[in-house]
Amino acid sequence: MLFTNLINNSKLKIKIILLFSLILILPLTILTIISLNRTYAVAETDIIKDLNHATNLFRDSLEDKLDSLKLRAKTLVDFEIDSIALQGFPEKETFSLFESELVKTDLDYIALIEDRSFATVQIGKFTQNSLNNVIFPAICQTSLGVNIYVINDEPWIFASAMITKFKTIKPKHIVFAQKIKNDFLDKLKILAEADYSIYYINRKILTTQMDVYARRRIGSVVEKPELDYGKSELNNKSFSFIHTSALPNRISNDIKIEILVPNSSYQDLGNKMQLDFFLFGLLGLILAIATGTVLAMNIAQPINELAENTTKVANGDLNIKSKIKRNDEIGILSNNFTEMIRNIKEEKEQKELRMKELNTLFEISNAVNLFTNSEDLLKFVLSHAIDILQAERGSIMLLDDQTDELIIKVATGGRYRAINSKPIKLGSGVCGKVALEGEGIISNEGFKDARFQNFGSIMPVEDINSLICAPLKFKEGTIGVINIVNKKDNQLFNQNDLSLLTLIGSQAAVTIENNKLYELSITDGLTHLYVHRYFQARLTEELLRARRYNLNVSLIMIDIDNFKKFNDQYGHQIGDVVLQQVAATIKDTVRTSIDVPCRYGGEEMCIILPETKSEDAFLSAERIRKNISAIELPHSSGKLHITVSIGIASYPLHANNKESLIKASDSAMYSSKQAGKNCSTLAKEIKAEN
Ligand code: GH3
Ligand code: MG
Ligand code: MG
Repeated sequence: MLFTNLINNSKLKIKIILLFSLILILPLTILTIISLNRTYAVAETDIIKDLNHATNLFRDSLEDKLDSLKLRAKTLVDFEIDSIALQGFPEKETFSLFESELVKTDLDYIALIEDRSFATVQIGKFTQNSLNNVIFPAICQTSLGVNIYVINDEPWIFASAMITKFKTIKPKHIVFAQKIKNDFLDKLKILAEADYSIYYINRKILTTQMDVYARRRIGSVVEKPELDYGKSELNNKSFSFIHTSALPNRISNDIKIEILVPNSSYQDLGNKMQLDFFLFGLLGLILAIATGTVLAMNIAQPINELAENTTKVANGDLNIKSKIKRNDEIGILSNNFTEMIRNIKEEKEQKELRMKELNTLFEISNAVNLFTNSEDLLKFVLSHAIDILQAERGSIMLLDDQTDELIIKVATGGRYRAINSKPIKLGSGVCGKVALEGEGIISNEGFKDARFQNFGSIMPVEDINSLICAPLKFKEGTIGVINIVNKKDNQLFNQNDLSLLTLIGSQAAVTIENNKLYELSITDGLTHLYVHRYFQARLTEELLRARRYNLNVSLIMIDIDNFKKFNDQYGHQIGDVVLQQVAATIKDTVRTSIDVPCRYGGEEMCIILPETKSEDAFLSAERIRKNISAIELPHSSGKLHITVSIGIASYPLHANNKESLIKASDSAMYSSKQAGKNCSTLAKEIKAEN
């Protein structure tokens, strides 16, 4: 479960390293276990074989020894004892026979025993009591026997034979004894290739070998061998041992022997192999980790980077940079992915640009609703065109209806603010050519272009590096041109830019023309003041705003004094000139783009003053009155002078709606007439009226 989680959640890098470790380590471990098991199995068989061989050799040799001693006793009894037996075993003869027998057979002890308990002759060193009471009676119970006894921790072979040949004499027994010597075991050791041969009886060591013997003897005297076979350590060497009965069913006491054989060459090989396999395993692990790491660096790392990049893209970030530089499949994948994202990014940017272009066009077409002032409208169009074409500056020129010359109406962007108002003839320079032919021009050579002409700009023309100019086309005709100068970042203008600018030009032309029409519709042809209809609409709007935001609105009503006189005395044309002069003076005196001067009707004019209190409006009215009275109209009969009577009313001081405001200002104006004309009168306050 934990492992599955680890696999599922870990990164590719870890997975590869884990996989390689498993691939190399698992088979290597299995191989090691199988091989070691086989080697140990062979070693075990080898040792068991050695142990069995040593055991058999030991048994056979001991048996031979027992048999030869038994045979000797039998031979003595059957054939060599006759003469002294007939004499009744005289001590002297018996003794000398036995002595020669001892020498002949390398025995350690010989005795003639009578009545199972009395030794008539004995040669050897046993203590009387023990031999008599323990050993001999036992031996004497058999007519012909052989046995091993332990005396003072040393093994002795005893053989006995009963003299039965002479029925006349009392039963007598011959007993032989021989100590099993160390050299017997030494010989066996050489034959069996077993290192130590020790045997036991009643848990006591009888004999053993070499220097080790002493130590083992001391330690093992009381030690009961618990196992029949196993492994043991001696002098830092390991041995396999076996405990087995020395000669089962042959001798009266069960004497056990212990055979030790040193570990076989197979065992050593197994141990060496164990180390080798451990080293190989370690090497395998290092190799696996190294291979895994190299693979991880080569495959997992770049795939990881790719994955991170796809995550970035999925989160909307298309600015990805790939560090993968290689020619294999991963490299191709990375390159293709980067290329794909680059294309998507380009497409996205193109789309955004198209959207921006569409938006610009929409805003330009909508601009007619935003501006009443045509200059503001042109500035708006120009700044949008400069922005969308990513240029430094530009200008819009309109064709004059009368002269058919191009007049710079607005210029903006960068340091390029100065307008050279000198008209440009159709056909001259880049802009003149565009206006004449109605086709846009891209000039990426800027001022060096042969078509380029300096029209006396106060800015250095050397500054113009690239230029694009499109006609402002309305219906079939061209009403002007739009010039865009210096594409940013030293880029050049292209066909797309021209198409876009031409589109902007067409849209702008429609907007400009619409604006012109609108301006015409709200402007009085004679005085160029706003018409009555516009006055009504604006006043409604301003009063609404004033009411909403708690502001003041003032209205100035102006009536030319004795106007009829001008008409009657000097004719209607002079009357019209008087109207125009008065209107122009009003326009010059009021705040541009705040106050709204209108022709109320006939020779009556009025001005809406938004956010203006009555006293300020009064001051403004007086200024107008004085400026008008200063007009000197040249005429054949002498200089003509004009005066006006003015009435001023303010919301909310003098009126609380449009009608009452107009009425109040009109009444105030009438009061001025009453007061002798050429003066200004403030309307009566509502409270005062009541
Ligand atoms: P008062 O000082 O009382 O105002 O005397 P007035 O002569 O100005 O009298 P009134 O205001 O009644 O005269 C208005 C005249 O203005 C009547 C009309 O012939 C003349 N008028 C109105 N519109 C125009 C115009 O567009 N052009 C010319 N020339 N005269 C106009
Ligand atoms: Mg009048
Ligand atoms: Mg008048």
